[in-house]
Amino acid sequence: MSSMQDRGYEAVIGIEVHVQLKTKSKMFCADSTIFDSGDNENTSPVSIGMPGTLPVINKTAVEYSIKTGLALGCQIREKSVFSRKNYFYPDLPKGYQISQYDLPLCEKGSITFKVDGKDKTVGITRAHMEEDAGKSNHHGDYTLINYNRAGIPLLEIVSEPDIRTPQEAAEYGRTIRQVVRYLDVCDGNLEEGSLRCDCNVSVRKIGAEKFGTKVEIKNINSFRFVEKAIEYEIDRQIDLVDRGEKIIQETRLYDPDKNRTFSMRTKEDAQDYRYFPDPDLLPVIVPKQLIEKLRSELPELPRDRALRFQNDQGLPEYDALVLTTERELADYYEETAKTCKNFKASSNWVMTEVLRELNQANKDITQCPIKPAQLGKMIQLIESGAISGKIAKTVFTEMWQSGKEPEVIVKEKGLVQISDTSAIEKIIDEVLSANTAQVADYRGGRTKLFGFFVGAVMKASKGQANPDLVNKILLEKLKG
Ligand code: ADP
Ligand code: MG
Repeated sequence: MSSMQDRGYEAVIGIEVHVQLKTKSKMFCADSTIFDSGDNENTSPVSIGMPGTLPVINKTAVEYSIKTGLALGCQIREKSVFSRKNYFYPDLPKGYQISQYDLPLCEKGSITFKVDGKDKTVGITRAHMEEDAGKSNHHGDYTLINYNRAGIPLLEIVSEPDIRTPQEAAEYGRTIRQVVRYLDVCDGNLEEGSLRCDCNVSVRKIGAEKFGTKVEIKNINSFRFVEKAIEYEIDRQIDLVDRGEKIIQETRLYDPDKNRTFSMRTKEDAQDYRYFPDPDLLPVIVPKQLIEKLRSELPELPRDRALRFQNDQGLPEYDALVLTTERELADYYEETAKTCKNFKASSNWVMTEVLRELNQANKDITQCPIKPAQLGKMIQLIESGAISGKIAKTVFTEMWQSGKEPEVIVKEKGLVQISDTSAIEKIIDEVLSANTAQVADYRGGRTKLFGFFVGAVMKASKGQANPDLVNKILLEKLKG
């Protein structure tokens, strides 16, 4: 990054994200979209492009696309058109892909997210619907084609060339994934190809207005690789320009093992595709009422939610961002806080114990064995002084293992905090008379020994003495 600036260059980056919509059936026919199906199981005459078949638009796919467009602040076109994008590829049996061209469903939006603590806004040029192609599996000297993916609905979200660093590019991708997962229109599984990023990269001298020639890096399947691929590509392009060589407009692929990009093909221009409106499909007419209905159904989006956690609940920005990464995690936190009415304590427990245990057990928040109301009740027990923070950790572990209610665990294990002054005094007296030498030292000025006494008392009480009271009474007694 800094090397790019040190060398006097700036990068210009625009990203195309292909979002696989989570519909039950395909974009233009009733084939299933289940990922694990057997090879070519999810096919029909429509999806393998038999002549004479006709496409029928999937209404849910259109609605999911509109929701995504609205969440990205886009205008929704009331009359959009499907076009044929003509090209030959073995996994594209019709010889064209049904996509949208000059009249896309969504356009002119933007998205704002945090990069290094600062707000970054990236314009969304357009988001259009299209169908996916099949998948070619190359085996040495022959290739097998699986058409299960052919015809799966995609929403292609095209950004403005507003991104300037590899880090911003990765954060942009993560934010798009977060939004479509909040909307529940895409599972966001990069490994299964449910979300694919094409990164367009060019460089220009700092201060120059004109964009350089762009190179497209296709199908990168992790956001870390998005960052690395772009880093590599920026360096490669600056080297070429510095040497006075030309950048070729082309499509490149990223090899994570070698951490470099290599040329795949020179890039076609739009006119090469001979786009024309698909005569088999009527324009998509979206009534205003439908747009407003879908708008009213949008969930609170991650950025709004994070801001609410900060402004209304007093959480630090860091907590708010971590807790809103996933909608279910934010729900879990809010449910916990609803029970115990302590936002920061809920946030602390969720961000540390809950996330750590989930991580260790390789589970996500929806599989958490502790219900948010149980965690909330446990926090209430701490607040009321019934248990100490230390005992709470024991209760938490036990809840995790047994799923029992916190108050039941406290009762069964006799974990109640001792807040009875005379009981604590008794323990302290015993500890002091067993350690007379240390008491004399303390009184002679070695006040550092205080911690030793606290520890001994807590141990003698099996961790159950109220620590505040222990401190207070010990101080008094040690004065002598
Ligand atoms: P194409 O027709 O080659 O796909 P588009 O104009 O549709 O090109 O742009 C594709 C993506 O490339 C968009 O995300 C856009 O923001 C980005 N882009 C366009 N020009 C440049 C450039 N000079 N450098 C980097 N990105 C660019
Ligand atoms: Mg394009």
